[in-house]
Amino acid sequence: MIPYGRQDIDQHDIDAVVEVLRSDFLTQGPQVPLFEKTVADYCGVNFGVAVNSATSALHIACLALGLGRGDYLWTSPNTFVASANCGLYCGAEIDFVDIDPRTYCMSVESLEQKLIEAKAQNRLPKILVPVHFAGQSCDMKRIHKLSLEYGFSIIEDASHAIGGRYLNKPIGCCEYSDIAVFSFHPVKIITTAEGGLATTNNAELAEKMALLRSHGITRTPELMTKEPEGSWYYQQIELGFNYRMTDIQAALGNSQMQRIDKFVARRHVLRARYDELLKDLPVVSPTQSSDSYSALHLYPIQLELQGLNKTHQQLFQELRENGLGVNVHYIPVHTQPYYEKLGFKVGDFPNAEFYYERAVSIPMYHAMSDEQQGKVVAILKQVLQ
Ligand SMILES: *Cc1c(COP(=O)(O)O)cnc(C)c1O
Repeated sequence: MIPYGRQDIDQHDIDAVVEVLRSDFLTQGPQVPLFEKTVADYCGVNFGVAVNSATSALHIACLALGLGRGDYLWTSPNTFVASANCGLYCGAEIDFVDIDPRTYCMSVESLEQKLIEAKAQNRLPKILVPVHFAGQSCDMKRIHKLSLEYGFSIIEDASHAIGGRYLNKPIGCCEYSDIAVFSFHPVKIITTAEGGLATTNNAELAEKMALLRSHGITRTPELMTKEPEGSWYYQQIELGFNYRMTDIQAALGNSQMQRIDKFVARRHVLRARYDELLKDLPVVSPTQSSDSYSALHLYPIQLELQGLNKTHQQLFQELRENGLGVNVHYIPVHTQPYYEKLGFKVGDFPNAEFYYERAVSIPMYHAMSDEQQGKVVAILKQVLQ
């Protein structure tokens, strides 16, 4: 089976992890701050806060921005459930903004329309979570302009997007957002097994997130309510969590970061080849926006079902049976039973639903060989022609 995504681990990665295993610190040692600095420097941003998953990063990002009961968080329906769940963790209400049928990212036109309506009803969002779907940035410049007009904060869900660029700057630089969040799950661009990281240019937000990641406990005397009682002393000043990344994970991340540009460049070679080889098949290839350089986490195609005598489900099954580890990204979040119980229903976000009904993510990862890609194309041809 050729998977839709897969990590790439080399000897350097293995040595880096083993070195930590032989060292004094498996967690809370030097590798985590080094990883934070490495990613922040790479992104051209002031601060990085490493955690145990992007889900945790989204949660503490929402808390740091003050999200709570009575507030609204808006995101895209074409995403993993975590982009919306983070708002529910904080007691906020969720709403969605439909996607642009061309990029599959949040539509700025729909956003603008929804903001006008929400303003009239006094239910403007406190936080917007645009998702850089498949690694391609949303139209952040226009979204940022709307945030100034309507007064909401922005958390970029850049889980797919480390190594990508937008308007010639690294995704994660936070030029047009308060916080950006990365995931290092093995199917993403680089991996720490499980892991995530939040970037920000705001020192206060960075400090708040660092506090929340570790029980709300501080050892910084300036943050304490009274004089330390001794050098052992710490204070809990917030209700935080244990969302810490380990040094084992961070060492893997540091090693992987050395190859990140190679990873993304290889994905672009594979993308260009797919674009060419799939041209005559009844599929729609993903659009590449001229203002961005996608990190290409995914290569999602849409099946042109009207010309094919089979259903989405049948074709997907045939691809799997022929050895293609295809997947579907994403089941629109608002159609999940948990969200239907909150009042959402099929039909609410038709562009995301239409896309979902035809979407298939075909294999896209750094270590895929030309031969494997040739095999993927041959199987697609066999099943779709
Ligand atoms: C993978 C992913 C997440 C969650 O990442 P974890 O690190 O697994 O918690 C969140 N949002 C999107 C868009 C993702 O793809």
